[in-house]
Amino acid sequence: MEDNRKQEKKIKVRTLMKVYHFFWKYRRIDSIIAPFYYILENFSPAVSTLILAGFYQEVYRVLSGEMRSGYGLITYGAAFIVYLIVKQILQLIASISTNAGIYEKTLYILNERLSEKASELPLIAYENAEIMNKKEKAQECVHNDRIPSIFMLSVVLSTSVLGTGALIITLGSWHGFLAVIAIVSVAQFYAAAYFQEKKKYQLSQELTTEKRQQDYLWSLFTDEKSIKEMRVMGFADYLADQWKKSRDKINRKFWREELSAHRNTMYCEFIRIAGYILGIAFSFLLLTAGRIEAGVFGAVLTAFVNVQAVIKNHITSIGRIPVFLEYAKDYFDFIELPGEQEGAVNIGEKIQKISFRKVFFRYPNADGFTLNNIDLEIHEGETVAVVGENGSGKTTLTKVLLGIYAATGGSVAINDIPINSIDQKDLYKKIAYLSQDYMVYKMSLQENVVLADMPENAAEDIKRIVSEIGLDDIAAACGDISQVYFGKEFGGIELSGGQAQRLAIARAIYKAGSLVILDEPTSAIDPVQEAEILSQIMNMVKGRTAIIISHRMSICTRVDKIIVMKEGTVTETGTHEELFCRNGEYTRLFKAQSCWYEA
Ligand code: ADP
Repeated sequence: MEDNRKQEKKIKVRTLMKVYHFFWKYRRIDSIIAPFYYILENFSPAVSTLILAGFYQEVYRVLSGEMRSGYGLITYGAAFIVYLIVKQILQLIASISTNAGIYEKTLYILNERLSEKASELPLIAYENAEIMNKKEKAQECVHNDRIPSIFMLSVVLSTSVLGTGALIITLGSWHGFLAVIAIVSVAQFYAAAYFQEKKKYQLSQELTTEKRQQDYLWSLFTDEKSIKEMRVMGFADYLADQWKKSRDKINRKFWREELSAHRNTMYCEFIRIAGYILGIAFSFLLLTAGRIEAGVFGAVLTAFVNVQAVIKNHITSIGRIPVFLEYAKDYFDFIELPGEQEGAVNIGEKIQKISFRKVFFRYPNADGFTLNNIDLEIHEGETVAVVGENGSGKTTLTKVLLGIYAATGGSVAINDIPINSIDQKDLYKKIAYLSQDYMVYKMSLQENVVLADMPENAAEDIKRIVSEIGLDDIAAACGDISQVYFGKEFGGIELSGGQAQRLAIARAIYKAGSLVILDEPTSAIDPVQEAEILSQIMNMVKGRTAIIISHRMSICTRVDKIIVMKEGTVTETGTHEELFCRNGEYTRLFKAQSCWYEA
């Protein structure tokens, strides 16, 4: 228990140092202006109290006839005006520096670093609910200004020690008990601030997953595809209802929390007011006992209120900082997650060999292995079909091959170089990959195929590929392919599912790479044209190493090697003839499909 506390304290101190380091690195000037201003600002109540005390005393002297000339009155009055002007000017400078420099610009930098980190994370991190929750918590920290608040609160606190001390001494100089009442009557604000913030933090931690779900539901109402489906299928009301329920559930918890916080603040205020009344009564006793002069009575009360206000602010800050540091820790935890481990080895000009040795792969939080002890080799120029039932691990196999997901065990190598040592940028230049989540970009047809600056004389190649893949009607209807635009929002044309998939195939084929990976390239193409497109694809990838995942077993008769997968393992490899003779899983799959085409 004791050790845990010590550990927690250490973590908080470390986080506080990170916050300071951040400001020193990114907002140096502002982080100097702020403490400088607050040092001056903290003497302000003591200065104003002293000037006012002198002023009241002079007023009393003039009124009682003790002093005839009003010279002292004018001096104190003028001093007070100068004090107010200087205070306003400094306040203006500090407010610009704090609002713009410490808060707004910091927010911008924190957000920028957050999105940089999100883009650097290994792609597998996006499959990990824990990491996505960390991201949400980091966003929460930024969204609520916790890091600038920690900095400002700690600046205010540390720079106010002298000023607060001066104020307490001023009040105590009239009577020590007055200072004690003023401090004790606001001590409860510490507990209120600490527990309120702690509860809020715990609540937002508890609700992180629910909030992500709520955001997901909301995103469905802004996504064109889901809007169409929900309208036609008539479940828009159901989803809206789910979203409202989730929103109300979350809000209700926060409102309850808010209400309890207000109630606590009210109780704290009652105690503070009781302390104030006690302070007035005690000052009055001092006055009647002749311990303070009548002119000082007003100044004593002003000083009393000032001490209460300053101590209340400080104590509230002291209560808040530890919890704010927990938010900041969430932010730094996310920012410090290891990014993608990129190798630096260049694999050479071509992909000559791909090898899997005893490869295992498990998705984060999944119970079992999705890839189980995979051994295989693919050589340059081979065309390979990967077949197997849904969920057998075909897509996962290609993602591990591409280094998108790192193997949990075993080794994946290209040209005998372990995939994690390879320079990914260099590798991906040599690979054309069509995933099942292909995109149609709302740009021109030519841009959709090339997705880079248009090389000279590329138009002919693009036209040929587009024509071979069956999109020539669109190109022909529109004339110049650079003028064919997609996306009706931009006055372009809308592609059918099959046409969109053809476009994605054209992109993969156009990209000059020594390895082509196509994951279910004809899933959206109608059966009548599917065989023709598959045959076109086979012609187009001739001479290149190609891995094609397909549910269409007929492709297997045209490839050099078939890899059969079942429940995460490779059960068979060989040519169509070899595997068909074995009468195993491959034959079962093949027969199951071919019987549909037999009369
Ligand atoms: P196939 O391509 O053969 O249909 P996949 O490789 O897509 O199979 O999926 C293999 C198995 O891995 C399936 O059981 C699937 O549910 C599981 N799986 C796929 N993606 C994830 C993920 N992100 N997290 C956990 N399990 C996953």
